[in-house]
Amino acid sequence: MTEPTLFDISQPGKRCTRMPAADVPAPALVDVVPAEHLRAEPPALPEVTEPEIARHYARLAAQNFDVDRHFYPLGSCTMKYNPKVHEAIAAAAGWARLHPATPAEHVRGALRLIRDVEGWLAEILGMAAVSLQPPAGAAGEFTCLRIFRAWHDARGDTGRTRVIVPDTAHGTNPASVARCGWTVTVLESGPDGRVSTGTLAEALGDDVAAMMLTNPNTLGLFETNVLEIAAMVHDAGALMYCDGANLNALLGRARPGDMGFDAVQVNLHKTFATPHGGGGPGAGPVGVTAALEPFLPIPRVVERDGALAWDHDRPASIGKVQAWFGNFLVAVRAWAYIRANGADGLRRVTEDAVLAANYVRAALEGAFDLPYDGACMHECVLSAKTPTQETGVRAAEIAKALLDHDIHPPTMYFPLIVDEALMIEPTETESKRVLDRFIAVMLEIARAAREQPEALHDAPTRTPVRRVDEVTAARQPFLRWRPE
Ligand SMILES: *Cc1c(COP(=O)(O)O)cnc(C)c1O
Repeated sequence: MTEPTLFDISQPGKRCTRMPAADVPAPALVDVVPAEHLRAEPPALPEVTEPEIARHYARLAAQNFDVDRHFYPLGSCTMKYNPKVHEAIAAAAGWARLHPATPAEHVRGALRLIRDVEGWLAEILGMAAVSLQPPAGAAGEFTCLRIFRAWHDARGDTGRTRVIVPDTAHGTNPASVARCGWTVTVLESGPDGRVSTGTLAEALGDDVAAMMLTNPNTLGLFETNVLEIAAMVHDAGALMYCDGANLNALLGRARPGDMGFDAVQVNLHKTFATPHGGGGPGAGPVGVTAALEPFLPIPRVVERDGALAWDHDRPASIGKVQAWFGNFLVAVRAWAYIRANGADGLRRVTEDAVLAANYVRAALEGAFDLPYDGACMHECVLSAKTPTQETGVRAAEIAKALLDHDIHPPTMYFPLIVDEALMIEPTETESKRVLDRFIAVMLEIARAAREQPEALHDAPTRTPVRRVDEVTAARQPFLRWRPE
């Protein structure tokens, strides 16, 4: 890397600010911190001025790709624009400075907010009860499976060890199954990109604990047989879990609870206003049916003697899945987002997200391959199979070419059942002008792939870093700068 680090520009004695000398005697450090915890020498921190440090980080930030400056149609990730007002509300000292150990009687407003968000999500999902505790979508999956396991165990039904997961599922689904100590039975999708009930019947058995289904699935297609699928799974004594990361396609229009699901997780950081992608905190609340409610993580917010309080005394609970009550400030953003939109606004979010995806699909299906015909939900999956076969231009090269147009690439090579997949999720927050520009750029890239494929092999040419060695980066990640 050619970028200088702060250590490279460090010079002894440089400081950002200089405090006036104290006019009272300072205690010796050893009187404050026990000697065995003191380091022998001061740490080798870089010494720089304030403008140097400000410019260093501003320059790094400007090299990044972010949703505030760029269209970001990364499928399945719902990279919508997050209104800044929700950040301001979450940053208010009354929320941001709360200590989680504060006794309930001093933070009833926070308990009320948790209960409001739980109640609204329960209504949106069609579920009896919700817990905000899991800190991410994958953690929500794991929590639901643990709840399923506790339910089976409580009935003395301990021989169930298999979980059925369609081949279009997000990779976190099989990972959650493994974490739960169960094994995965992969279900091959039917020719229409959906679960086929015939294949499901063959996979079911009295050792099946659950089925995990994403609806709409990661091809952006609604599982139209979901009621029949749920009935089959229930008849086999198993439970139905909904991967609800794609809730942007359902708000106010359809509810997992009405589709026969017993539990669902929601990604607040995708649909409900928390920025994500940089590894920051998210939240994966789970909603369950009344029969599963006793197993939800503790503590729960309950009403006791006319006031809200924490309830830790729930013997059937699976326990805790995250410190304290989960990532509370993510719930604050969701509270603000739900209030700002209202029921009509949330329905509009979904209608506009689905409209945008279909607008893009209809405009591009002539220039790329469309592996599964028909309308999509909140995202569309195209394939670059034809350009790959004809001129060797792969999905990855199309993605790199988009970077030169200041557009973030779609999700690539996922779902795994589509060759050269390009999974595009435009979201509801983009204007028609932005979508039209994206379509024009994609059509131009499709033409270049036919007429001058060499040009695409060099892309990107305008980014701070061009092609990186992705295999080495994934296998031997180099995440930390170390002094020589
Ligand atoms: C994002 C996503 C997940 C995982 O959510 P995380 O918050 O990243 O753990 C699971 N399933 C689907 C379909 C997703 O899109």
